[in-house]
Amino acid sequence: MLRRMQTSRARQRQELLRELATQETIHVANSSEVRAIEAIKALQRIQDGTYGICVDCGRNIPAARLQVKPEATRCVGCQSEHEERTALRRGDWYDVQARSA
Ligand SMILES: [Zn+2]
Repeated sequence: MLRRMQTSRARQRQELLRELATQETIHVANSSEVRAIEAIKALQRIQDGTYGICVDCGRNIPAARLQVKPEATRCVGCQSEHEERTALRRGDWYDVQARSA
């Protein structure tokens, strides 16, 4: 009985984590919420066994980068490409120019 309760609690927690990880709330969240969501996503990737693997190119993210930014999902090259793509989609030319200046 106790064992079954623990199992269902673990499953509930996993479902909650998955739900939080898939919610598209980042654009309305403040920076501490964003950090919390990123931490949860990182835990999810640890569970999935995909932590430390770049989501774009599939190569290992260098350990030095993960030490600085444990929630990183992309290697440095893919991350800067991703940020440029995202900024371009939003029409934030100013951001792109400011970053590359
Ligand atoms: Zn990459």
